[in-house]
Amino acid sequence: MAVKDKKKDKKEKKKKLPLGRTVSNIFFALRQVWETSPGYFIFYYISTMLYAPLDFLSGSFLLRLIVNGVEDGTPREAIITYLAVIASVTLIIHLVNRYYWNVVSAGKYQQIGARLRRKLFVKASEVELSCYETPEFYDKYVKAMDEAFDRVMKVMQTIDNFIWRMVTLLCNSFLIFIIDPVLMVFALLPLLLGFVRKWRNKLKHDHIAARKPVERRQKYVRRTFYLNEYAKEMRIGNMHTHMVGELDRTLKDFCALIRKYGWKRAIADYILEIGVSVVTVLGATLYAVWRALSDGGMSIGDCIVVVESISVISWALSNLVSTFAEFGEHSLFLDDVRFFLDYEPKIKDSENAVPAPTVCADIDLDKVSFRYEGAKEDTLHDISLHIGAGERIALVGQNGSGKTTLVKLLLRLYDPTEGSVKLDGKDIRDYTLGSYRDGYACVFQDFRMFSMSVSDNVLLRNPEEGDTELVDYAIRESGAYDRVSKLDKGVDTTLTREFDDKGANLSVGEQQKIALARAFARKSPIIILDEPSSALDPIAEHTMFDNMMKAAEGRTVLFISHRLSSAVDADRIFLMDGGRITEVGTHRELMEKGGKYAEMFRLQAENYIGKEARV
Ligand code: ADP
Repeated sequence: MAVKDKKKDKKEKKKKLPLGRTVSNIFFALRQVWETSPGYFIFYYISTMLYAPLDFLSGSFLLRLIVNGVEDGTPREAIITYLAVIASVTLIIHLVNRYYWNVVSAGKYQQIGARLRRKLFVKASEVELSCYETPEFYDKYVKAMDEAFDRVMKVMQTIDNFIWRMVTLLCNSFLIFIIDPVLMVFALLPLLLGFVRKWRNKLKHDHIAARKPVERRQKYVRRTFYLNEYAKEMRIGNMHTHMVGELDRTLKDFCALIRKYGWKRAIADYILEIGVSVVTVLGATLYAVWRALSDGGMSIGDCIVVVESISVISWALSNLVSTFAEFGEHSLFLDDVRFFLDYEPKIKDSENAVPAPTVCADIDLDKVSFRYEGAKEDTLHDISLHIGAGERIALVGQNGSGKTTLVKLLLRLYDPTEGSVKLDGKDIRDYTLGSYRDGYACVFQDFRMFSMSVSDNVLLRNPEEGDTELVDYAIRESGAYDRVSKLDKGVDTTLTREFDDKGANLSVGEQQKIALARAFARKSPIIILDEPSSALDPIAEHTMFDNMMKAAEGRTVLFISHRLSSAVDADRIFLMDGGRITEVGTHRELMEKGGKYAEMFRLQAENYIGKEARV
């Protein structure tokens, strides 16, 4: 793990985008803001362009004016008028600024974020399942989701800083230049320390990169203490002491890194500080004082301004350099966002795609083989099968034999590596994806509940008229009705307590009944149930199957179940073994055949009988 992290960090360190791409990424970020709110964009920068010169005019420039005015005997009125103008402009700009940022722009800020997130979410729902299994893609995907909005706003801010520094630099340089051009030499001195700055930035970057794997471990330890899913295991044995030990190890690693980088960073910082404060500021001050005292060539006001302006100039210059590094960093993250947004899903509508039939139709698999991305072997091998419209098929087989994979192919979550899946005699790739998937009601083995009402969890879509009766029917048939009717707000109760203190936490079996209600609530021609009853007790399972078969009258049903007792009533049973269909037939036929199905069935039956005998 540590070696892997090191390799990854090294790869990240080397990564640098060409200038053209960096500029294009920066424009991409600016476009996101501009397209949502040109007003926000314009105000953002206009306010900086007003603030920055105002800062100069009410700082160094004002100081010079006052001291020189007093020295030259400039009329008081002139200085007071200048002060009054500056004060009034400052008051007005501040007022407009506060109003805009707190009242007008607050909503715009949210809109920019929402618009970008919507784009990302839409894309996320389009990318095929295999993208989740490609580490490189998944990494970019997570980074895009995490960073997109933040980076866009950081680009705005970096440009803002850039403008501020440029204006400050130009104004102060101009002032210094008219006071005495020789002073510019002192102002430019910090640039000579560029190589030290580079060394300091590299040290900082390396230190952060080296800390990352340790931070990841530290965060992991933290998660194991606060996440519900670890709570039980953490209380068994002495896992918690082991984890606290891991925390101590991360502390040691952090300290080792501080010892490695700390003193080098201190030296670099020291050289830079001395370079700026001693050489530049003190040097310029000494020069100015010498000029003011020896030949009277510099007024006291100018002398004071030199001290102020020189440090401002060296600050602006050194920060301008880091601004470019910031652009480079933002660009790297934005590149991931753009990669993700520009990604063309592989599973999508073909050019001449037509809507899928809305009535029950035959399903055929024609010599289908399938291999997962990055896998060395095929998971499904040369499968051909026919499922007649309205048939009830049980798909059985040991763990890992490929049942769920076959279902994923049927749903077109993946396309076969070879061969084709057909509906009504036509390759499913020739149907529009949306209409094809609309034809299925599915309950997955690893179903999830959303933190929404029971009703929303059953329907999994926007509500329509007549839904109250539909949800009521679905939860009755799936066996969830008794439990739901005892909840405070019935079908309107929120599931989980994540956002609602009055929400309901249901047991796994109860959740499975809600998940099953999804299949009852959808009037699609094909129903797929992947291990629909694994968390149900035998009576609930029997009732649910009975109800499902009645509800599915005239529709095709394909169900996967470990309990072979539920396969007995199926029209046909497909037995999968090692990614192939090895036995097909009714329960009676397969029992008579005396193959693997018969053996599995007998084993399970003996198990039950054995248990009964012990009781
Ligand atoms: P079953 O549903 O019969 O238990 P699966 O279809 O889930 O079997 O899995 C069949 C095989 O495919 C297993 O060996 C499993 O490890 C592998 N497999 C499943 N999902 C993936 C995946 N996303 N990437 C790579 N291999 C997978």
